[in-house]
Amino acid sequence: MHRTLSFPRIVVVLFLCSLLGAPVVAQEKSAARPATPKYILFLTADGFRTDYLDWYAPPNLKQLCTEGVRVLHATNVFPTLTAPNMCSLVTGSYPRTTGIAANAQYVKEQDKIVLKNRDNKAETIAETLHKAGWKTAAVNQFMLEKRGTDFYVSTDYDDAAATTVAVLDVLKNKQPRFVGVIYGATDHAGHQHGPRSDEVKKAVLEIDAAIGVLVKGLKDQGIFDETLMVFSSDHGMSAYEAKQPATDAAETLRKAGFRVATSAEQLKPDTQIVVIANGVRVIYFRDVTPEQKEKATQALAAIEGTEVLDRKRLDALGCHDNRSGDLIVSPLPGYVMNGVGRTGGLHGQFTERNPILFFRGPGARKGATVEGAQNIDVVPTLLSIVKVVPAATVDGRVIKGVLAK
Ligand SMILES: [Zn+2]
Repeated sequence: MHRTLSFPRIVVVLFLCSLLGAPVVAQEKSAARPATPKYILFLTADGFRTDYLDWYAPPNLKQLCTEGVRVLHATNVFPTLTAPNMCSLVTGSYPRTTGIAANAQYVKEQDKIVLKNRDNKAETIAETLHKAGWKTAAVNQFMLEKRGTDFYVSTDYDDAAATTVAVLDVLKNKQPRFVGVIYGATDHAGHQHGPRSDEVKKAVLEIDAAIGVLVKGLKDQGIFDETLMVFSSDHGMSAYEAKQPATDAAETLRKAGFRVATSAEQLKPDTQIVVIANGVRVIYFRDVTPEQKEKATQALAAIEGTEVLDRKRLDALGCHDNRSGDLIVSPLPGYVMNGVGRTGGLHGQFTERNPILFFRGPGARKGATVEGAQNIDVVPTLLSIVKVVPAATVDGRVIKGVLAK
């Protein structure tokens, strides 16, 4: 029962009290953090660039971060888009394992473009904990819907206050030990107004206020000291750049003589190459000879302001063997694929690797930093702290620098 001390701990506290002559209540309050958390709150803010913590000084998040351990340079999976990264965060697995390679992707074996990817092949942390006997819940974490959660709640994605109300409500009434949560406001504000804008600052501070209410609620429920929190993001956010490639990848391939589809409507029996725009351009060879592949690759490589990541590089990044495409064209620093000079923000490109990540609570170090880690390392790290064996599908590693000694 989480609102009272467990029997062995009461015995220890009473024993210490009898030795020290101190009142029991004072001992309970000053008791050290338990080494193993009873609860995990896996919080993710969509598009929360790590710099926001420094630029906009959200007080509650800064406080939690100061009390815990911050990963200074967290890297996410490529392309740096929402669906693959939300999935990789809660599975600890690369897209090559989850199959969630992009927001929209061409699925070769079905010969179709899938717009809403939820067909995750890896085990989620909720499923792993559920097997280990944990009661689990999620609020807005769409990659955990029907994936190991006993309770799933949706709120207005951008309404941080309502999200916190839902989290506290499910904790109080259903008493799960794990809750996965998404706060969405930073992503939409970032896309519309750019990372350095009053609107993003407002969204950051709204989420921060909701986190403040969440912490107070956890304290009111008597579970704050037993809760390990991770605050993460799926990706960061970049401003539109000043330069744009002269031609788009699809246009380049058409000029080179290929039959190209960029949408489900354009996909025809004789389509040779599928190009999906996802902040980057994901290139799928559908029906081409090796010579034509070479020709297409050379045409794409000639586009100024972009780099072409081939299968070797995509494999090294943990991309899926076919859903991540045969090639990905990503803009170089200073360039954007389209929308040059626009007000607003975007992500997806190779260089967009700046999501926030910190841990706070029992089992995590206090007042520490870690230089770097991947977002797929979050799941094995959390599971290591609560001593649950990770699923065979986990690709990430335990971040040793996060663990309390
Ligand atoms: Zn996102």
